[in-house]
Amino acid sequence: MKHIYTHDNIVVLHSVKNILALNDIESYVKNEQTVPVGAQHGIGNTFHELWILNDHDYIAATELIAREVENPSPKAAWVCGECSEENDGSFDVCWKCQSAPVETQATQGA
Ligand SMILES: [Zn+2]
Repeated sequence: MKHIYTHDNIVVLHSVKNILALNDIESYVKNEQTVPVGAQHGIGNTFHELWILNDHDYIAATELIAREVENPSPKAAWVCGECSEENDGSFDVCWKCQSAPVETQATQGA
């Protein structure tokens, strides 16, 4: 068994566990019953921990967490239909003229 991930929010930890499970990596939560606040007061080892059951899953699990949890892939950049300015994929509206991106739904189910 190997320790793979630590977080003070049990909900986050369970979503990571689910992501691993979807990729056939078995894991379990350690310290599930502890109170994370204790860690903020200098009491060690009270964060929730996620451990994988099979050591040979370690690299795959690490890569999965890095990709899906800590660094989700950015959305593609888009060009504003109004002013032709290029916008970062994280923007919901054009930074320059506040127009929403042109939807591409017209191509679906026609
Ligand atoms: Zn614009």
